Amino acid sequence: MTGTKPADVDVAVVGAGFAGLYLIHKLRGLGFDVRCYDQADDVGGTWYWNRYPGARCDIPTTDYTFSFDEELEQAWTWSEKYATQPEILDYLRFVADRFDLRRDIEFGTRVDQAVWDDAARVWRLRTSAGEELTCRFYVMATGCLSLPKRPDIEGVDRFAGEVYFTGKWPHEPVDFTGKRVAVIGTGSSAIQAIPHIAEQAESLTVFQRTPAYSIPARNGPASSERLAQIAKDRAAYRDAARWSPGGIPGEYEENYALLMTPEQQRERFEKRYAEGELFAILGVFNDQSARLPANDIVSELIREKIRERVSDPKVAEALCPKDYPFGTKRPCLDTNYYETYNLPHVRLVDVRETPIVTVTETGIDTSAESLNFDAIVYATGFDAMTGPLVSVDITGRDDVTLKQKWADGPSTYLGLTTTGFPNFFTITGPGSPSVLSNMAVSIEQHVEWVADCLTWLRDEGYRTIEPTQSAEAGWNQHVADYAALTLTDLANSWYVGANVPGKPRLLYPYVGGVEAYRAACDEVTGRRYLGFALAGPTGSECNDGVVRRVQPDVAIVLNLFEALGVPGVETLPVPDARAFMTAMAATRMPGPEVGEIVDGELPGADGPLPYRLYRPATPGPHPVIAYFHGGGWVLGDLDSDDPLCRDLCDRIGAVVVSVNYRHAPEARFPAAADDAFAAVEWIAAHAAELGGIPGQLVVAGWSAGGNLATVAAQRARDAGGPPIAGQLLICPVTDSDLSRSSYEENGVGYILTTATMRWFWDHYADPADRTSPVCAPLRGELGGLPPAVIMTADFDPLRDEGIAYAEALAAAGVPVQHVRARGQVHTSVTMVDVVLSGAAVRAELADCVRGWLTA
Ligand SMILES: Cc1cc2nc3c(=O)[nH]c(=O)nc-3n(C[C@H](O)[C@H](O)[C@H](O)COP(=O)(O)OP(=O)(O)OC[C@H]3O[C@@H](n4cnc5c(N)ncnc54)[C@H](O)[C@@H]3O)c2cc1C
Repeated sequence: MTGTKPADVDVAVVGAGFAGLYLIHKLRGLGFDVRCYDQADDVGGTWYWNRYPGARCDIPTTDYTFSFDEELEQAWTWSEKYATQPEILDYLRFVADRFDLRRDIEFGTRVDQAVWDDAARVWRLRTSAGEELTCRFYVMATGCLSLPKRPDIEGVDRFAGEVYFTGKWPHEPVDFTGKRVAVIGTGSSAIQAIPHIAEQAESLTVFQRTPAYSIPARNGPASSERLAQIAKDRAAYRDAARWSPGGIPGEYEENYALLMTPEQQRERFEKRYAEGELFAILGVFNDQSARLPANDIVSELIREKIRERVSDPKVAEALCPKDYPFGTKRPCLDTNYYETYNLPHVRLVDVRETPIVTVTETGIDTSAESLNFDAIVYATGFDAMTGPLVSVDITGRDDVTLKQKWADGPSTYLGLTTTGFPNFFTITGPGSPSVLSNMAVSIEQHVEWVADCLTWLRDEGYRTIEPTQSAEAGWNQHVADYAALTLTDLANSWYVGANVPGKPRLLYPYVGGVEAYRAACDEVTGRRYLGFALAGPTGSECNDGVVRRVQPDVAIVLNLFEALGVPGVETLPVPDARAFMTAMAATRMPGPEVGEIVDGELPGADGPLPYRLYRPATPGPHPVIAYFHGGGWVLGDLDSDDPLCRDLCDRIGAVVVSVNYRHAPEARFPAAADDAFAAVEWIAAHAAELGGIPGQLVVAGWSAGGNLATVAAQRARDAGGPPIAGQLLICPVTDSDLSRSSYEENGVGYILTTATMRWFWDHYADPADRTSPVCAPLRGELGGLPPAVIMTADFDPLRDEGIAYAEALAAAGVPVQHVRARGQVHTSVTMVDVVLSGAAVRAELADCVRGWLTA
């Protein structure tokens, strides 16, 4: 910004709901002049439009409120746990009056068009009033749920009676007394409205396509516990909300359904159900949003409750959602919703059984009957998240419209900005937590981020800001990686755009939570707007980069390790390090079921070695995998890699023989390598007895075990046998040279550290031995080795030696498949039921291995 004023205003804001109001106040306070438009005739946004009977928030109002001003908070008291629409609208009017916001808002005015003028570096807006306005910065505060979706039902315009849309309810009172009313839809709005409409109507017929999961809201006075917390230390409470997963403070508890008894599961469920809060029921178990068997438990418990609430078993069954997991569509809170179906004048029509054929002049025809109504209420939802944004004709650089750019789905950086559209911001845009969070908290965070950004640009003398393509692609990938950890793809919900025909299917909001999201935004800001190109009259700057590259579930594990202060194993005496590993292994999930697990002994190079055999559930014989565990030749045993061995057995359909070789420092180099080769020889010779197919032997290992596996393959080649069909090398140690750059880049903070690797080497081998190919297989002769699949992880100190090995094998003519595990760490694929993103990597490895083996 230069001081001269090239635009009519600094900032144009579209929307005067929670977001627009706070934007005006905040930006005005920072010295920016702002013009706001709303097509509504007053402030309120959602709470202006959604006036249907029973409309309320379903985040407790103690939390669904502005927190930026303590005096404002003290000046307003909410009357209930979940306030009604009129009360929330009153509150937003009160806010507008208190801060004199209306003077900057043009009501009854739609913004129809916005065009970026690259030469003047301004946005040119055109409104429904024919006004043209130029602004330097253009902010869409148009909400996620402000574009009602037109019902896609034949004959909608034909009906001669009264027609209502929940998302555009009249301002005048609506009286259904004595009327025959139809409600189409059973989402959140319908669930709130139906009990109220039933109170008045002579008859009520509800047309349901997909039943919702709803639990009692238990509305009433606000939670005294919460009020006390706020009264005690308001600032701390609000801060805890900002740094919480959903935008409401709460205790984090470890509760994995799959590790609980049925009694424990029920007890935990009943406690959470009784709270009558969305985040409570969405967080009964930590694994319910990611693991289908865990989700099934909570889904069935909710169905049980629905059955208890509805007297007619047939109606109850129709109201029970069965074909999508709980939480993958927006769950609902209700007051007497299910009980309403026990009333004699209320009827449910399941349109999956008897579809609506058409709306007629007098009512609705289904495939089974013609029904007459006096009024039809459409509760058919919204074109959520992107609808309000692309419904404005927004043209960025190079004449590309937002609609064109997002034709295959939204692409944003942080859900706030998008490449090709300089100085353009979206509040709670796609790719931000938005509808999955307490939106009051998310809106405040976005408004403050934008305000900080504009202030910073002004201070630094920059006039334009625009995300880079790589930063945006990286963020989209991160959003998608998070989505892939959930079950959301299993439902046809508006979260994934499935309610709007032709809308690209992907998870629109960011599922990583408010806290993780805020941390990412703060990091971007703290790194001089990482991933943004900035330009002004005196220069430009671009600190390109991707803000989140580690897989989200890996990041959670890393954070947990950091929070727990997990010691580096190199700081411990060897027995303590081993005890620590054993303790860690004891608390994890077991991994998949396999057909059979048998422990035994086989002859090693210097005495018997324990082994554990995993047999697939399918009829044998099977190929055989000789597996060597990780642990730097010092740690690990038959238990340490147990979940991975189960997983390999299950996925590949192979007998896995996991061998516990001798460890250093008690038995230093070459004891482990000698044992590994002896074990491979024995397993090959006894393949048939073990239930294997002779000649179909793969050597495999993770980390130091990968080292032993490939060393055994080299020895087998040199010894003329046994024949080996392939080598599965997972993050293998291939060299003793610790100067490769991955040791520098990934040396600290990714579980396996460079210091730990040094400690392992020091325990395992004398420096003089470390150049031997038996220690460092990369230095050996590689020609003539069996085919290999090598997995390397992005954030592993061993990454580069794995890459070097893959390249060297290929150069020596060995068929190699190199699986680069994006965003993973050294331990990722071994953490079978913890790092769920590792499953895709294991699937790829298993595919490669199966490719070597013939039936
Ligand atoms: C029935 C209902 C209940 C909800 N309950 C909760 C809850 O309990 N907790 C929660 O966190 N969230 C809830 N939400 C989500 C709610 O939308 C947000 O909490 C919040 O109100 C959004 O505020 P906003 O300012 O971002 O957008 P909105 O309140 O949607 O305001 C956007 C405004 O932009 C205007 N607008 C849009 N396009 C244009 C244009 N082109 N030109 C001019 N004006 C335009 C609209 O008229 C609208 O007034 C609910 C949503 C609905 C529909």
